[in-house]
Amino acid sequence: MTATELVGLTAAEAIGRIRAGELEPAELWSAYQQRAQADDLNAYTWVADADAPAADPAAPLAGVPVAVKDLFCTEGIPSQAGSRILENYCPPYTATAIQNIYDAGAPLLAKTNQDEFAMGSSNENSAYGPVLNPWDRARVPGGSSGGSAAAVAAGLAPWATGTDTGGSIRQPAALCGIVGFKPTYGAISRYGMIAFASSLDQAGTFTRDVTDAALLLEAMVGKDPYDSTCLGLPEPVQPPTATDLRGVRLGVPEELSGEGIEPGVLAAFERTLDIARDLGATVESTHLPHAAHGLSAYYLIAPAECSSNLARFDGVRYGMRVDDGGGLLDMYTGTRAAGFGDEVKRRIMLGTYALSSGYYDAYYGRAQKVRTKISEDFESAFSAFDFLVTPTSPGVAFELGAKSDDPLAMYFNDFCTVPMSLAGIPALSIPNGTAQAPGGSSTELPTGFQIAGPAFSENKLLNAAYALETALAFDSSPAREAS
Ligand code: GLN
Repeated sequence: MTATELVGLTAAEAIGRIRAGELEPAELWSAYQQRAQADDLNAYTWVADADAPAADPAAPLAGVPVAVKDLFCTEGIPSQAGSRILENYCPPYTATAIQNIYDAGAPLLAKTNQDEFAMGSSNENSAYGPVLNPWDRARVPGGSSGGSAAAVAAGLAPWATGTDTGGSIRQPAALCGIVGFKPTYGAISRYGMIAFASSLDQAGTFTRDVTDAALLLEAMVGKDPYDSTCLGLPEPVQPPTATDLRGVRLGVPEELSGEGIEPGVLAAFERTLDIARDLGATVESTHLPHAAHGLSAYYLIAPAECSSNLARFDGVRYGMRVDDGGGLLDMYTGTRAAGFGDEVKRRIMLGTYALSSGYYDAYYGRAQKVRTKISEDFESAFSAFDFLVTPTSPGVAFELGAKSDDPLAMYFNDFCTVPMSLAGIPALSIPNGTAQAPGGSSTELPTGFQIAGPAFSENKLLNAAYALETALAFDSSPAREAS
């Protein structure tokens, strides 16, 4: 097989060939390692330089290599979370989610670039530079897991891990034309995941297709004595097989599928609803009355939690230290001033303010009440529908720099994904076509279709996504061929 043919295989196809003795894991490793080392999208912050590690073809992941978002701790390997303050930080242990992947037989190929501490929607907040979208290098890949999304879309990795606090798996997956899955909060351990907002942070997968998502997810999930909020999943994740959507009731929340969504994205969304109907689903519009307040609640809760989580970066325990002899307080402030980027500082200030005495009830307390209302909205919607569907991102990939000076425009990217994060429910994005960028550009760019289900509905969700994916037959090869 040529290297191009090799990287054209999905992970599941590669595993099948390895098991059949038609492909050596070492061959696959070398093909990906070469592409990863030649990465010109800035998708990677570290690439393995070792020869192919020993692989066990009988292991669940059979030696198919994985790329890992940089905020997962990997023992002895830089884990910088996109921040200057963690430059060259090599943790003494590996995150449970990643250790689970190693134990399932997948070796680490590379660490992926990301927005600093996962704060961002374009990957432009990385201290290690922006990542380019393989569909159009003048555009962003989305964020915060932009490196993972770009790497998988461009065929620089068979699959990758990511984290999603408000949309950071689903939105970049949509902008790069691949599948991104954020499971139920607590399905995967957060131990060793550098924290942003602990009540929202959720690990998940970037894959070429839904079958690969099920495989990688099954490797990552599981209870963990090191994370008391981690439950695992009630049943093993099964390879999806559904060929139709008969009997499946899809709800379209009006609040998340109209105003503010680009016309091209809406048109693709409508076409996908038609396909769902053809497959036998019923599609009805519904309401999530508080969903429109999701962003406001999120941008209080997430900064509040981050202001507390990021207090640990003080120049004493991790990463960089700026000490010009002025004493302890100067060392703290000097380190944090030099080590954090603008967006991270903005959030620490917002969060500290929202938690301060006198404002706590008005801001943080109220945001928590809105969060509860949003969860209740979902609960009542799921009494009438199996899944809720929306466009994943309000727009296609935008040009680098287009939203950098406007934090609110940047925050709006997560309008459709944040409510599911606040409710802790599983949601997945599949590529459902292309649309032209607004403003008369002729470039066709991928769009994403989001499917959200009740907590712990992973297997049903994957099956519904699989049936749709098969009918959509989205062609992801242009992004690989351009790379
Ligand atoms: N874009 C959102 C933010 O900046 C979500 C990020 C994420 O999910 N990590 O907070």
